[in-house]
Amino acid sequence: MLYIYEVKINNIIDLNYSDMKRGEMIDKISDSSKEYDFIVIGGGATGIGVALEASARGYSVILLEKSDFTKSTSSKSTKLVHGGVRYLAQGDVGLVREAVVERGLLTQNAPHLVKNQSFIIPTHGLFDELQYTIGLTLYDLLAGKLSLGRSRRISKAKTLKRISTINPDKISAGVVYYDGQFDDTRLAINLLQSSAELGAVVINYCTVTGLLKDPNGKVTGVKFLDEEGKSKHEIKGKQIVNATGVFADDVLKMDSPDAEKTIAPSQGVHLVLDKSFLPDNDAIMIPKTDDGRVLFLVPWHGRVVVGTTDTPIKEESLEPIALEEEIDFILKTAARYLIKAPKRSDVLSVFAGLRPLAASKGDGKKTKEISRSHKIFESESGLLTMVGGKWTTFRKMGEDLVDKTEKRNGWLHVPTKTKHLKIHGYKENVDLSDPLYFYGSDENEILKLAKEEGLSESLSSNFGIIKAQVVWAVRYEMARTVEDFLARRTRCQLLDARESIKMAPQVAKIMAAELGKNEEWITKQVDDYVRVTQNYIL
Ligand SMILES: Cc1cc2nc3c(=O)[nH]c(=O)nc-3n(C[C@H](O)[C@H](O)[C@H](O)COP(=O)(O)OP(=O)(O)OC[C@H]3O[C@@H](n4cnc5c(N)ncnc54)[C@H](O)[C@@H]3O)c2cc1C
Repeated sequence: MLYIYEVKINNIIDLNYSDMKRGEMIDKISDSSKEYDFIVIGGGATGIGVALEASARGYSVILLEKSDFTKSTSSKSTKLVHGGVRYLAQGDVGLVREAVVERGLLTQNAPHLVKNQSFIIPTHGLFDELQYTIGLTLYDLLAGKLSLGRSRRISKAKTLKRISTINPDKISAGVVYYDGQFDDTRLAINLLQSSAELGAVVINYCTVTGLLKDPNGKVTGVKFLDEEGKSKHEIKGKQIVNATGVFADDVLKMDSPDAEKTIAPSQGVHLVLDKSFLPDNDAIMIPKTDDGRVLFLVPWHGRVVVGTTDTPIKEESLEPIALEEEIDFILKTAARYLIKAPKRSDVLSVFAGLRPLAASKGDGKKTKEISRSHKIFESESGLLTMVGGKWTTFRKMGEDLVDKTEKRNGWLHVPTKTKHLKIHGYKENVDLSDPLYFYGSDENEILKLAKEEGLSESLSSNFGIIKAQVVWAVRYEMARTVEDFLARRTRCQLLDARESIKMAPQVAKIMAAELGKNEEWITKQVDDYVRVTQNYIL
């Protein structure tokens, strides 16, 4: 079998704005005789990593997502591109090394979305200072040439100068280190655009409902439902990949009704506060909270994200809801370190995500101790399931899965093409004070659209969002609902849930005009958005 591939390595993929059109994607798959090299089920970080790697190597790829891309865990992260300092404390050096290398590569490949963020660990006494300085020096060394900066101890006076809101009674000094910070859903959209530009078919609102098998029980394709048109489809593929995160067991059950449970979901909650709680540039990392967890306070899009928790959850859901005890825990811990204690009424938004951790085998491990490394399971049918891992390592996860596929299927090995692949929107030295900076090289096109079609009017003075962004998201980023726009093409829902509800009617109206929808659609969209977003308000 000969695979022909043409990728511009070390180069920006040509922009082709028609590549992310849902209608055209659906048309492409109407030919049921075509056999794809890869069918990827799930449009979160894991599935997107596989789609990008496989399409970059020249394989034909289709990715199906039952809701919007990243609707589940991949839009609810702490927004860190990091090695995971605490995994180092747990002795997982291999995992940290892999992640810091990936952190460095992503900083190079998507500089418009990944920024170098300084963190300060508040210390309590000499032992703390020594422990964290040594540990973080090792963290830097593991990154080698891809290190983002040297860790070092700073005095109490310097710590108080750099973090003006930290409680002086609670610290003896500080240790500074560096990690990456990003916008998870914006990265996902750009990665999907890159994949589409490389030939992948990526479609949201398509639910895989079953697997196709040959007489020997080998999986040969999938059945799926287009949730918009309510049409049923079947497509054939050589390698089917289950990248459904906390829903992986549902697909494994489609493969074999008595498949074992592989996932132990663990919930993580974040609160978003006004910038006044952390007005400076440094983030705070609290390495040991009362119950041994880590808590971050990170500046993000002009607000502060505070989290997270680690609570075992029985039922997986696309919209997990923060528990009262998780909210209290975050507020209480933050209050201990800040001069002004944040109250419930200060919370602009609360969001919860589920970690798809590998289920423990009854060895009594707590979820925070279960390995975060990714795992690939191979079913007898040939289905490959990838779970675990982190957003930071999505590229390496894709590489590992495609390598494994080539090996098990006896295909010619094509070396990875994504290590230095500049992703859609690539732009260096973006101005973070520009409200449209996260579009990278697309920003000029959006401003052109705004000028040409009279769409420069602002939709919210809080966010600096203009009408052209809504039109852009529909035309070129496959936004289909008001929530897609307010939660994932922009981050209004997470940054200020109440303000985002105020924007919903206008957003619905603009989207309706673009999508050819009627008043009834507008009303339903606004109702749906308000219902979901109530869960983000305390
Ligand atoms: C609270 C929290 C904070 C985190 N913070 C960080 C961080 O700061 N940095 C970091 O690197 N990592 C972080 N992580 C880890 C990272 O977010 C996850 O590892 C990653 O997002 C998991 O992606 P996924 O694609 O495996 O799962 P998901 O994002 O859940 O994607 C799976 C997708 O599959 C879809 N799906 C399910 N069933 C079907 C079906 N039948 N048909 C079609 N589609 C289907 C779902 O709708 C979903 O979109 C964090 C995780 C959590 C929970």
